[in-house]
Amino acid sequence: AHAPREALPPSGRRWPFRRLLALRPLGLDENAWAEVLEYLGYGVHRSLEFYSGMGGMASALNQAKSLYRVAEAYDMNLNANLAYELNFHIRPSCSSIENLKKRQLDKKARFWLLSPPCQPYTRAGKQEDINDPRSRSFLNLLEVLVTLDTPPDYFLMENVKGFDTSKMREFMLTKLRSLSFHIAEFLLQPKQFGIPNTRLRYYCIARRTKPFPGEVTSQINLSIPSMGSSTGQGMADSKATVQPPTLGEFLGKVLLKDDGKTDIESFLVPQRVLKRCGGYRFDIAAPWSRDSACFTKGYGTTHVKGTGSVLLLDEWRTNDRREEPRPPQCRILSGEERARFFTPQEALKLSGFPESYRFPPKLTHRQAWALIGNSLNVCVVANLIRFLHHAE
Ligand code: SAH
Repeated sequence: AHAPREALPPSGRRWPFRRLLALRPLGLDENAWAEVLEYLGYGVHRSLEFYSGMGGMASALNQAKSLYRVAEAYDMNLNANLAYELNFHIRPSCSSIENLKKRQLDKKARFWLLSPPCQPYTRAGKQEDINDPRSRSFLNLLEVLVTLDTPPDYFLMENVKGFDTSKMREFMLTKLRSLSFHIAEFLLQPKQFGIPNTRLRYYCIARRTKPFPGEVTSQINLSIPSMGSSTGQGMADSKATVQPPTLGEFLGKVLLKDDGKTDIESFLVPQRVLKRCGGYRFDIAAPWSRDSACFTKGYGTTHVKGTGSVLLLDEWRTNDRREEPRPPQCRILSGEERARFFTPQEALKLSGFPESYRFPPKLTHRQAWALIGNSLNVCVVANLIRFLHHAE
């Protein structure tokens, strides 16, 4: 009943969108031209972003130069929705995904992108998995998915390490298989894509259009297979053994300069917090480090333990000229050392967002950090999107 359809927009119009795109008037940039075409109703490649947060998936579609655009987004977090609207000009729906019905989702889009709440599956948590109330909305989505008359042809979901061994994963795979999706799963790190940041995440991509190469479907993959040079424009080979750049090199011009003019004070870890953490081994991001700890929701609050890395002001003043041996990345701080958090702009860059990403001025730094901590690495997802559409 659910045979994969030919690549067609849901409107059913048979316009060769790529050819229309190539007829772009001189002087108009490709995105603007795509928008004009969309406005006229041609080749609209619609996608839905569930749990849209600050828009990691929408940003990844842009970065992948995908022909898909988010038509509708869903999230209950109002700060996230403000950031989303500012950057992607769509106001996400803030009603709970738990209550979405078939009539609201059918025939809407050919691509679903989603990153459901991860707390039910985190290794540090209680792992209530499918029984956790926070799993309900995802259960509902999957239940609705299999009832659609026109289900999407593409599916991409992101979650924590831990999801890969959950009952929820089994449930998801069963539902996807019942719609004849071809499925590929991954566990990937930003470091594999040249970004000096840790964020080990589970990804599931699926399509109904064409099978994936066999070797990708038989296991959970630890890298994305190379796609060859013809489509390889800007494509990072996640297998490459080259190490990521240093933080000093990578941050470049978004790095907050300690020049006496910039407001570095507002990013300092308060002395009282440092004192309270006596004996705690901080993850210290130095200019020569090729890694930084995963940002989590509590970053920049008084809960500094395990929420991300801090920078030592003195280390960054000498800027990468230090000879080996270098101090260990995790160590206890002495009372005299001054540490600061990554600024939201720096954390954005480490999460693969473009420098054009903006937070609404009314959000505080903490609110911005919380959104980044919940979000995803855009560069990793962009590479997965390219793989998803590759060789069709
Ligand atoms: N990928 C997103 C973040 C996902 S985090 C990004 O790039 O920012 C999970 C998100 O799901 C959170 O923003 C949370 O507000 C939202 N969420 C959780 N349960 C929800 C529900 N039942 N309905 C709508 N949104 C929900």
